[in-house]
Amino acid sequence: AKRGGRNHFEWYLEGDQSRQHRKVQLRHDLQQALIDGEFRLHYQPIISHTDAVIAVEALLRWQHPEQGMISPSEFIPLAEETGQIIPLSNWVLDQVCRDARVLRQQWPLQVAVNLSPLQFLRPQFRQQLMEVVAHYELPPQALNLELTEHTLVEDPEQAATTLRELQSAGFGISIDDFGTGFSSLSYLKWLPVSALKIDRSFIRDMQNSPRELALVRAIIDMAHELDLTVVAEGVERREQAQALQSLGCDCQQGYYYARPKDFTALLVWLQSRGHW
Ligand code: C2E
Ligand code: CA
Ligand code: CA
Ligand code: CA
Repeated sequence: AKRGGRNHFEWYLEGDQSRQHRKVQLRHDLQQALIDGEFRLHYQPIISHTDAVIAVEALLRWQHPEQGMISPSEFIPLAEETGQIIPLSNWVLDQVCRDARVLRQQWPLQVAVNLSPLQFLRPQFRQQLMEVVAHYELPPQALNLELTEHTLVEDPEQAATTLRELQSAGFGISIDDFGTGFSSLSYLKWLPVSALKIDRSFIRDMQNSPRELALVRAIIDMAHELDLTVVAEGVERREQAQALQSLGCDCQQGYYYARPKDFTALLVWLQSRGHW
């Protein structure tokens, strides 16, 4: 056991070290990446139960010169640790509004944007958001702000105050990754929210697990009781799409309908679809 154990131990250390090394490297590269313009936004369509495209979600991409495309699930947590998330989020907001302005000349679609907790909980956030939409002459209705339960429970009173102001200004507000946060549902009664996005993990397991299916049904029914729109995330197969449709789910998003694509490809996709 000792001999085998030693090898395993070394292998583990190495793996751990290279993972650590990659983190240090990426953290360092983040600083330069914004300056060098290595970030891009991709957009994924959101489809209503009447088969209309009603919105697109902006998803951040990092095209690293040596490492290739790096997933936001890897670099966003790093950017949050270092505070780089603030300039990065400002870039996203500006780019989203720039694209939304072009998009809306042709298609009346809402653009959903993911907000990080650090960004959203800063006192300057509301003012900054109002300024950027004003600068691009967009109505606040053009944007849908996606927040996770985690962001909302971090500082519920601050979150509620900011959300009330944003909702009365006209912004759409969605709870992202709904059902993964282990949080109490009571916040739904008093937070001004317009939509829930059911996390992909529920949709993935829905077909094989009666329990998961029951959960999805319960979330949809509860959301409708509360006058909220429900969006299902990560729909990959026709059977999932049909099941969600029969449960009364309002909107769907996933590879079954469309993968995230760059802005130019999105415009081509919308055009070729021929209808909204
Ligand atoms: P999210 O907000 O839950 O975004 C949905 C993720 O699911 C995206 O991953 C999307 O590409 C992926 N997805 C969509 N449809 C399917 C499907 O049918 N199957 C599967 N397997 N996946 C699907 P992505 O683009 O890698 O983004 C990961 C996360 O990074 C996002 O999760 C969001 O939390 C965060 N993120 C992305 N862009 C931004 C941003 O601009 N700002 C902030 N703060 N976070 C962002
Ligand atoms: Ca999202
Ligand atoms: Ca999500
Ligand atoms: Ca997610």
